[in-house]
Amino acid sequence: MTDTARPTRIRVDLDALSHNLRALRAHAGVPVMGIVKANAYGHGLVPVGLHLQAQGVEQLGVAFLEEGIALRQAGVHLPILVMGGIFGPQAAALIAHDLEITVSSLDKLRQVEAAAEALGRPATVHLKIDTGMERIGVHSYHAGPFIEAAVASRWCRVKGVYSHLACADEPDSPMTARQLERFLDACAHFERIGAPMPLRHLANSGGVLHFPDTHLDMVRPGIALYGVLPDPASRATVALRPALSLVSQVVYFKVVPAGQPVSYGATWAPATDTRVVTVPIGYGDGFPRALSSRGEVLIRGQRHPIVGRICMDQFMVDIGPAGTAYNEDEVVLIGHQGGRGIRCEEVAQAAGTIPYEILVGLNGRIPREYVGGVG
Ligand SMILES: *Cc1c(COP(=O)(O)O)cnc(C)c1O
Repeated sequence: MTDTARPTRIRVDLDALSHNLRALRAHAGVPVMGIVKANAYGHGLVPVGLHLQAQGVEQLGVAFLEEGIALRQAGVHLPILVMGGIFGPQAAALIAHDLEITVSSLDKLRQVEAAAEALGRPATVHLKIDTGMERIGVHSYHAGPFIEAAVASRWCRVKGVYSHLACADEPDSPMTARQLERFLDACAHFERIGAPMPLRHLANSGGVLHFPDTHLDMVRPGIALYGVLPDPASRATVALRPALSLVSQVVYFKVVPAGQPVSYGATWAPATDTRVVTVPIGYGDGFPRALSSRGEVLIRGQRHPIVGRICMDQFMVDIGPAGTAYNEDEVVLIGHQGGRGIRCEEVAQAAGTIPYEILVGLNGRIPREYVGGVG
């Protein structure tokens, strides 16, 4: 840590990422498209992309053009699929940066074709089939003419066909089996017209963990790569290691007299005189305000409650009438300390949201630090 850096950081364990990649690939038994959208789920797009590339991930997936360009400019040469619904004017840039394009309608196919022809350079595309999300993609029951047009296209090379699962994080949901059936039905159209079968991919983290039938030719784990389960109902069928820790340091110590409220809105007050420390991170960093008087942190190996409202840049922790803590003591918000741990999943539940939102919410104001990953 440099002398001028704020005492708050995200620590990313690159060895945990390597472990999760290997474990998920071994479990699925097929190539992995590592999903690194939204700043690699808060872990840092470029460092994570480069690390996964060094670890032999087969492909990367992002949501937007800009994310793909950032990876290319950083030296990622792997295939990169842009999974979002593309806008016509972006088609040329996608092709020029050698990004694989999600084609999610006949119109989009025509736009990509036109851009590819103008550039004199074919586009590599993955066809998006909607099997139940009602998001982007052609309904599976209308996939026939769409597939035929794409296969016949002079300027689009159909590398993949894919769909997205709506309920795979719940192992008992019947939705996934229905979606798989619709997807395979759509894929069968390639056979019907005598076209080669492209790469079929369907499984997000929930699919990888819970539904082996969805693994097909490639899997697209995001959150599981980072060692976090998608949902409280999810089963840890693969031993994953959380890659992200969020740590800060005590910046202030005081005794708050009984009955004196703490923080904005005066929503919490101690019943007896107690010791309260201030931690210099807040919702301005993406640490959710919903954790006000709900979350916990680790200091000196002990759990202590966050008390009062979380401010933009700081929050307060009650360490109790006899608690000890000194300025600059480490505070763990997510991660381990002294044999105890606080998982992202727990933080999400306390905040009334999903682990995804906690991770991607941690913003660029927090410095990232990378450990491991050498050799
Ligand atoms: C985000 C995303 C994924 C990864 O989802 P996880 O639940 O994080 O594994 C896979 N496929 C698509 C199309 C996505 O948008």
